[in-house]
Amino acid sequence: MRQYVTLECTECRNENYRTSTETRGGKRLELKKHCRRCRKHTLHRQKRK
Ligand SMILES: [Zn+2]
Repeated sequence: MRQYVTLECTECRNENYRTSTETRGGKRLELKKHCRRCRKHTLHRQKRK
């Protein structure tokens, strides 16, 4: 089942991205993405609904 999730920057907590992901076993998605507020690539983590 696919689910829409919000990805937030782990440094400034800004919610930067929305994506869809495969839900499996409550595992949280973590991706390196560019944060506009930090102005660099940071780790973004799936925000739980
Ligand atoms: Zn940030």
